[in-house]
Amino acid sequence: MEDGRVLIDGMSSWWSVIHGYNHPQLNGALKKQTDDMAHVMFGGLTHKPAIELAEKLLDIVPKGLTNIFYSDSGSVAVEVAMKMALQYWYSLNKSTKNTFVTIKNGYHGDTWHAMSVCDPETGMHHIFNNKLPKQYFLPAPTSKFGGEFSPDDIKPVEKLLEKESNNIAAFILEPIVQGAGGMRFYHPEYLRAAEKLCIKYDILLIADEIATGFGRTGKLFACEHASISPDILCVGKALSGGYLSFAATFCTNKIATTISNAKPGIFMHGPTFMGNPLACSVAIANLKLLIENNWQENIYRIEKHLKTALQGLKKLETVTDVRVLGAIGVVEMKEAVDMKKFQKEFTEQGIWMRPFGKLIYTMPPFIISDDELSKLTGGICNAIKKLSTNAFLYVNHE
Ligand SMILES: *Cc1c(COP(=O)(O)O)cnc(C)c1O
Repeated sequence: MEDGRVLIDGMSSWWSVIHGYNHPQLNGALKKQTDDMAHVMFGGLTHKPAIELAEKLLDIVPKGLTNIFYSDSGSVAVEVAMKMALQYWYSLNKSTKNTFVTIKNGYHGDTWHAMSVCDPETGMHHIFNNKLPKQYFLPAPTSKFGGEFSPDDIKPVEKLLEKESNNIAAFILEPIVQGAGGMRFYHPEYLRAAEKLCIKYDILLIADEIATGFGRTGKLFACEHASISPDILCVGKALSGGYLSFAATFCTNKIATTISNAKPGIFMHGPTFMGNPLACSVAIANLKLLIENNWQENIYRIEKHLKTALQGLKKLETVTDVRVLGAIGVVEMKEAVDMKKFQKEFTEQGIWMRPFGKLIYTMPPFIISDDELSKLTGGICNAIKKLSTNAFLYVNHE
C-alpha cells in the first residue's frame, strides 16, 4: 500500500493470480516471448506458443472438446460461445433455435449477450432492459453441494426444454459454483440431469468455467464434479495466471465441422489480438506451474483450513451461512455489508478483501502459506465480529 504496509491477498485479483504476484517463471516466460515476438495477427497465421498451449489445454479439458478459440477476455469468450451455438444451428438450417436458457444467480460477463444471461437483479437488467436480448431464466438450483439432491430442482428445466426446444440454442451456466452472481455451490446431480435433458431435447450445453477452471474447486474443471462433458466450454481468469487479459472457448468436433461445412465456412469472429503470443506463453508457464506445484494438494490444504477457521462464524447472529468448496470460502451475512467500512477494517487486519452485497468471500492464491492463511482467516473473523451489528449475540445451538 501507499504507506508501505503489505497485505495478504484474499481475492487472487478476482480468481486470476493463482501462483501469486511477480512470479519468476511467469515473468521469465513473458520476457523471453517479448524478445522473440510480442504479437502477430492470427488470421491465416499461427505460431508455436498458440499451438503448444492448445495441445496442453485440449489434453486437460473435459473429454469431447477438440477445438479451441482464443480471445481477449472472459466476457468475449462467452460471446464467442454464444455465437458458436447460434452459428451451429444456422448451419443446420435451424435458425429458430436462437434463444438461451440460463439459471438465476449466474454471472457471465459484462458485454452485451453475456450480460443478457447474468442474473436479472444482480446483473442490473432493468437499467439496460429494453435493449438486452430476452433469454429464459430458470430458478437457481436449491440442492446444495454436499447435501441431498432434490429432484424438484430439475423439474422446471425439463418443463421449459420440452416446451421451447425449437427456440433454444443452448443452456449456459457456471458448473457447480455460481460466482459473482451469488457465490452459491450446487449439487452435481443437477448438472448431470441438465446435461441429459440437453441431449434429449437437442440443446447445446455451455459451461462457463471462467472462475472455476484450473483447480479452484478441487477439480481441474468443475464439470468433473459431475463427470459431464459440455458441448462448449469457456475459460479465462486463471488461464494466464493473472498476467494478461486472455480467454479461450472450446467446442466439440461436431460443432466445429458443422460450422465449417456450411456457408460461410468459417466461424464469424476474429479479435485483433486473438492468440496473442505473450498471453499464450505466460499461459503455458502458468499450466506448468499448476502441475509442478501440486495444485490438488494445495487446494485440499486451503479447503481444510478455510473449513476449520471460518466455521465458528456460523454462530454469529449476523451470519446466515458459511460455506467452503475447494479454495473458496464464503460467509453470507444477513444484511448487505458496508463495503467501505469493511475494506478499511480488512486492510487494518493486513488483508485484501472485496465483499459485495451480503457476501464476504475469499479465494486466495494456491501458493498461500499456512501462516498467511491463518492471518487471512483470522482477519476475516476479526473484521466480521467487530463490524457486524449484534455481532456479539451468539446463538446457542446446544
Ligand atoms: C469473470 C467472469 C466472466 C467475465 O470475464 P472477464 O474477463 O471479466 O470479461 C465470465 N464468466 C464468469 C463465470 C466469470 O467469473
